[in-house]
Amino acid sequence: MRAFRAVGGTPVFMVSGRGARLRDADGGRYLDFCMSWGPLILGHARREVVRAAARALRAGSTFGAATEAEVRLAEALRAALPALERVRLTSSGTEAVMSAVRVARAFTGRELVIKFAGCYHGHVDSLLVAAGSGATTLGQPDSAGVPAAWARTTVTVPYNDAAAVAAALRRWRGRVAAVIVEPVAANMGVVAPLPGFLQELRRLSAAEGALLIFDEVVTGFRLAYGGWQTLCGVRPDLTVLGKIIGGGLPLAAYGGRADVMRLVSPEGPVYQAGTLSGNPVAVAAGLETLRRLKALDPYAALRRRTEGLAAALRESARRRSAPVTVNSVGSMLTVFFTRRPVRDYASAKLADAGAYGRFFRSLLASGVYFPPAQWEAAFLSTAHSRTDLERTARAADAAFGEALSR
Ligand SMILES: *Cc1c(COP(=O)(O)O)cnc(C)c1O
Repeated sequence: MRAFRAVGGTPVFMVSGRGARLRDADGGRYLDFCMSWGPLILGHARREVVRAAARALRAGSTFGAATEAEVRLAEALRAALPALERVRLTSSGTEAVMSAVRVARAFTGRELVIKFAGCYHGHVDSLLVAAGSGATTLGQPDSAGVPAAWARTTVTVPYNDAAAVAAALRRWRGRVAAVIVEPVAANMGVVAPLPGFLQELRRLSAAEGALLIFDEVVTGFRLAYGGWQTLCGVRPDLTVLGKIIGGGLPLAAYGGRADVMRLVSPEGPVYQAGTLSGNPVAVAAGLETLRRLKALDPYAALRRRTEGLAAALRESARRRSAPVTVNSVGSMLTVFFTRRPVRDYASAKLADAGAYGRFFRSLLASGVYFPPAQWEAAFLSTAHSRTDLERTARAADAAFGEALSR
């Protein structure tokens, strides 16, 4: 993505960020809506977070031993997400997903995982899988270097299609270890779950003895203090967190039911480790970020601002007769270049990536850095002011014009 292959043009090399603003190596300045793909809900280089991380760095950046701060972070996560009876820290979301799937397989004694087309769970080998033709076929690798046998442990079904999940669970009865889902999808662009979809996943997976894993790497602490699960009322068996909980440093977590997490070493037989897991600098940044979020409770204001920007984008697309659908949930939004509603990967794929590329490049030229790909989310932070958003709406209005002309 950062190579700009999905939008064309020359990739920009960044040298610094402050609040909602970025500076590149050529002195260019941008209002940032990529926000490192989600972690920076408090903006770049938030003073309190920098101070906390610097203090930890001075005290020794890594010990490879237990620290009190990692326990405090684990307790803060548990307090925010009641389903996290036990939690384990890792350095990346990919690692956390991989470990959650491993423990789900160990707990159930089963091998298959159901995932949704268009959901991304990091570059875990067995989850880099293209959709087969419906729920009855096992996956094929989506990346070179992934053994076909590993991809065949994954069943891919359409997002927002509970009937397809039911069919897959029937077809592979007794073999599915877990159903993994982004409770609000952000990696095919922003796609909200239809009413009842997550509840139905909960019911179906429990009935079949499969674990339900919520990948809240993006949505955790982004849409509410805690995760989407605290808003939708569905309690997953396992949860994966990342991005925001590291405050812009490499940190992620997985956890959930105590009877499942008990299987992780040293208590149980499931191996998982990491030299820098629970790294003190990342933990300090994460803890301070959670502290700020709890004190500020910025979620309602962030949603209002994002909805305001989404409404302005829709209005200017309508005036220019640009075929555009804007999806927004909380502080995330995607401008899809298609007139049709986007509810799953198939409808997201109808969007015109060429038009998005022209839209992106026009915004970039006017100093607004949107995510450099059509099927990604734009993120707001507490550092984006009303004036910033008005400026963005004006730049986007012109960019729609350029997106339409060739
Ligand atoms: C970013 C992301 C991951 C992977 O996290 P990394 O830290 O990039 O490995 C996993 N799941 C979701 C939903 C993500 O958006």
